[in-house]
Amino acid sequence: MKFSSFVRFASFGIKTIVFRKKKPILGTVIITDRCNLKCKHCSVNNITAIVHPYEKVKGEMQQLYDMGVRILFFCGGETFLWKDGDKTLRDLVIEAKKMGFLIVNVVTNGTFPIDLPEADLILLSVDGDREKHNEIRGETYDLIMKNIENATADNICFYMAINQINKGTIRDVCEKARDMKNVRAVSFNFHTPYPDTRELALSKEEKAACCEVITQMMKEGAPIFNLKSAFPYLIENKFPTPCHQCVVIEDGKVSVCGRCIEVEGLCNECGYFFVAEYTLLFRGNVKIIFEMLKTYLKYI
Ligand code: SF4
Ligand code: SF4
Repeated sequence: MKFSSFVRFASFGIKTIVFRKKKPILGTVIITDRCNLKCKHCSVNNITAIVHPYEKVKGEMQQLYDMGVRILFFCGGETFLWKDGDKTLRDLVIEAKKMGFLIVNVVTNGTFPIDLPEADLILLSVDGDREKHNEIRGETYDLIMKNIENATADNICFYMAINQINKGTIRDVCEKARDMKNVRAVSFNFHTPYPDTRELALSKEEKAACCEVITQMMKEGAPIFNLKSAFPYLIENKFPTPCHQCVVIEDGKVSVCGRCIEVEGLCNECGYFFVAEYTLLFRGNVKIIFEMLKTYLKYI
């Protein structure tokens, strides 16, 4: 991260904490909900299957920028399916940088060739070892690993949603992240139980056991892009929700925190680590502030 960006984020953080502001800094544009997969835990693929046109996406990016957002995520569906004429996902990333976003990240399922050197981070879903990943995401593991090996930059971060199927494979994913040359780290979430996937949710005890494994892997030097100080809050689901510093825009509609905000009661069972980390940070939790500084400066 550039020093000027760091100063900008630090000043935003201080103002938010001191004046209890609710301005956003992190924004997500859903560029399509079309997806080539049908993962077991997913409730958001192919609802409309619309690929939003370039001018519309550009307008939404500008709208987020004008709201004060400086960390931008492109999300799907599957982002690499996005295309408009000769414009590709890579053009969107380049455009976002030109627009002035300080960090631009992309979320993908990794099943397409990865050529996005301009992105700061590519969050790529790996949901366990080969067996468990394939059980959740179809027979995609080997293709994804090949795409990672052939990627044109080392800006990949694994993204794992821990659920009833893959809860025993945290160590495997950490070791893969440590050993693959184009992978910088792994970031975890717990499954957020939408009404149609409740059976995949973890109990408090299971979450605690997962956090123990993650903590052990941190001690062993695995590159983990999460904050240990947030674990007790995540286990108990005792962090403030929603995150007012995060916004999502899809088809012109802006939601605070996530699209999931519309699902009644879901925030009380939120499994997104970033929500716990950000809301605790902006409440001025000192341990989180120091751990976030250390972790973010290491991986971005
Ligand atoms: S790749 Fe992502 S959007 Fe597609 S089905 Fe899986 S979780 Fe859903
Ligand atoms: S469940 Fe609620 S708190 Fe969690 S990401 Fe969705 S909107 Fe945010």
